[in-house]
Amino acid sequence: MQNRRRFIRNSLLTVAGAGLSAGISRTLQNLPETGGRSIIRTMGKTNISLPVVSMGTSSTSNPALIKAALDNGIKLFATAAAYQEGNNEKMLGEVFKDIPRDSFLVLTNSFDIQWIDTPTGILKPGFRQDELLKRARSSLKRLGVEYLDFFTQPFAARRESVIHDQALRAMETLKHEGITRFTGIATHRHEPEAIRAAADSGVHDFIMTSYNFMKENREELGEAIQYAADAGLGIIAMKTMAGAYFDKERTRPVNTRAALKWVIQNNNIHTTVPDCTSFDQLSQNIGTMAEPGLTDGEWEDLYPSSGQHYSEIFCQQCGICLQDCPYNVDIPTLMRSYMYAYGYHNMTLAKTTLTAAGLAGNPCSGCTACLANCRMGNDIRKKIYDVTGIPEISEGDTKDGNYLSYNNSPDK
Ligand code: SF4
Ligand code: SF4
Repeated sequence: MQNRRRFIRNSLLTVAGAGLSAGISRTLQNLPETGGRSIIRTMGKTNISLPVVSMGTSSTSNPALIKAALDNGIKLFATAAAYQEGNNEKMLGEVFKDIPRDSFLVLTNSFDIQWIDTPTGILKPGFRQDELLKRARSSLKRLGVEYLDFFTQPFAARRESVIHDQALRAMETLKHEGITRFTGIATHRHEPEAIRAAADSGVHDFIMTSYNFMKENREELGEAIQYAADAGLGIIAMKTMAGAYFDKERTRPVNTRAALKWVIQNNNIHTTVPDCTSFDQLSQNIGTMAEPGLTDGEWEDLYPSSGQHYSEIFCQQCGICLQDCPYNVDIPTLMRSYMYAYGYHNMTLAKTTLTAAGLAGNPCSGCTACLANCRMGNDIRKKIYDVTGIPEISEGDTKDGNYLSYNNSPDK
């Protein structure tokens, strides 16, 4: 457990005056909670200064939300070619086309997940650099920009997935061709190892890592983040809300305001990319910069004195269960999809992740009894049944929430 006193001592936050994009005139919403104050940090040697709260866009298709974010000081938008099959990039492009290029920053990745062994992050032999360049140029087109600011290699995990000749050459070429200004990795698994490798690579400029109050390896992760920050890399935190709920039925919500505050108290985190689907969420996220300190009540919400939260939504992505599965089913990716579906209610992202990873349908059909154990106490087989049928659910059902009772079990 993190030592609270030390945590607070390390939390000398830089609160700057209003860093808002007052010059951009397309306000659609007033966001009442924002407080007009921004915490600005500089992303290492990239020299880019930006608010510590940015925005992930995978959960929204609403351009008005993006415009409101811009109007309230958000600079960086994190997307991916896979989100909504390219339509998320197109939606951002519609917003970006009317505003000066230096008024926003954009991060994406255009990798085909089929190229990646997701448990290790290592590129498979089918990876082709020319195809990556083609796909990255398609992202530029959809976003309507001449260059990207940040481009990530996704699913980085083991050191060899980052210090990998082909991967590094591809990232250097993207910069050399002017497709992106900066490259980095995105990591959900074995994050400390991947982060240190990126810092040692001599190629990457930033890392984007899963980081939140529920991470069991948060101390080790914090040290790796420190290592990368000391090496001059920019640090972006994702998965900051730890699934948003602790249970599938959504009876136990995470205090998401406190969760975001917890992340930004680490001064090495230069920015965060929480997804949001509503103006209220956006307002709350931006508002954390006005009052960034954790109150005693908020601390209690994150770390109850009665004992640690049990989450059936947030998977640590530790991969320990993999050693028990005789069929090499990618359980952590299934569990991450479960979080997208039942925590964030981002059915499209759950579908995309499952389908791209070849996990749609029932990857456990040949198995009569689950041998895989989750060290966090989760019922792996039940969760797999709950999530693997999602790609077959119609858009209508996903919107209505009917999928909440969906179960792919052969015994249902
Ligand atoms: S049921 Fe469990 S052990 Fe069997 S294939 Fe699925 S994850 Fe593996
Ligand atoms: S299901 Fe459990 S054991 Fe497997 S990766 Fe997630 S937290 Fe780790």
